[in-house]
Amino acid sequence: MEYLFAVLILIVAVAIVVILAKRIASHTFKCKHCSKEFNIKWSKVVVTEHSGNEYMLICPYCKTKDWCTEQPKK
Ligand SMILES: [Zn+2]
Repeated sequence: MEYLFAVLILIVAVAIVVILAKRIASHTFKCKHCSKEFNIKWSKVVVTEHSGNEYMLICPYCKTKDWCTEQPKK
């Protein structure tokens, strides 16, 4: 019974992470080097290092790995 409860909490935790990651991934990210905006997959959001609205990403345009700023929804 306790095992089942732990599994249930884990499922809920994973679901929350996925929902939050999908919400973040619906925004665009702006590269500081070429000022271009791009989207990333939600699964990438989960594994990407971030602080606040800055995400350590590789820009698909100039291939620079740096902090990219999450843009507010238009
Ligand atoms: Zn760039």
